Amino acid sequence: MSELRQDPVTGVTTVLEPERAGRPRDHVHPVEASKDATHCPFCAGHEQSTPPSRLELSLPGESAWTVRVFENLYPALTAGDDQEWPAEIDAPWPYRGTTGFGVHEVIVESPRHDDTLAVYTREHAALLVEAWASRIREWREDGRFASALIFRNVGAAAGASMSHPHSQLIALSRVPEALLKELGNFSQDATESGRCVLCGAMSADDAGERIIFDDGVTAVHSPWAAPSPYFMRIAPRGCSATLADATAEERASLGTALVAAARAIKGALGEVAYNLVVHDAPYSAQHAGLPFHWHVEVFPRMGDQAGFEWGSGIYTNVVDPDVAASVLRAGLALE
Ligand code: AMP
Ligand code: ZN
Repeated sequence: MSELRQDPVTGVTTVLEPERAGRPRDHVHPVEASKDATHCPFCAGHEQSTPPSRLELSLPGESAWTVRVFENLYPALTAGDDQEWPAEIDAPWPYRGTTGFGVHEVIVESPRHDDTLAVYTREHAALLVEAWASRIREWREDGRFASALIFRNVGAAAGASMSHPHSQLIALSRVPEALLKELGNFSQDATESGRCVLCGAMSADDAGERIIFDDGVTAVHSPWAAPSPYFMRIAPRGCSATLADATAEERASLGTALVAAARAIKGALGEVAYNLVVHDAPYSAQHAGLPFHWHVEVFPRMGDQAGFEWGSGIYTNVVDPDVAASVLRAGLALE
């Protein structure tokens, strides 16, 4: 019998239907072979092919960059220095629209084209997280934006157009709907029970043995109401609103947890397409002191989100999160 499960953090409802699973491997999208790196604009030595660096971080003892940030050459959103706010655009009633106001940056994660998150050293992964936190802080200080989103697309099925390892930041002048919904869930639980809903979900997933990685600072779970097969949620054990203010220890621990999640996917499913999204407290919520517990979602792209999901906003998952946890743990042990 299928079950309808609801995630208390995202509010998303999922139909868990493991009896409908074919072999899980039928659903995954392998990452296509990497294209010729000769002309890759993200490779070391090709810096002239991208906009100028906004941040370069190097490993201790190295002079060359390891992580490099610049504006996206084809930005989804832009904000001129003298522009304070998006402008309303003429829209045919009853539509509404504004200019695409925001920031879109590329964070190149490695000088090497064929690097993957699964093989970053602890120091390298910590440097990547330092870059993320630094860019979130940068746009918070700017003052014109309401939220910043960090994400990572791996493989064409996950929306990636470049194979060189990279992540991206988009800052917006408004809070996206998914985050608004989460904010509401955090606030509601804090008001009703004085607890953090994600701390509660983590305890339940600890008790259910759905832990994939845990170093006492950061944990990776296969959450009880996972919306898709092998979905993982990574969060700090300490309840804090933003990665921007994480300590160096917390950043290094997140880096290690990210590598563990990537290794778990690789060991369990092979080189498959996946997305990674950082859910950080909107700037507006940070300023207002609203409750939030930052976290990261990592999910292989499976081919089973179709018409029903688009039409209903309800997800379907054919892999029981308890089974996913043991498969991912085994995958991580293999790597
Ligand atoms: P993705 O499509 O997720 O792989 O992200 C790669 C991003 O890199 C896209 O959003 C592109 O717009 C951006 N991009 C592609 N070429 C360049 C370049 N030469 N300089 C800066 N950004 C680029
Ligand atoms: Zn490259």
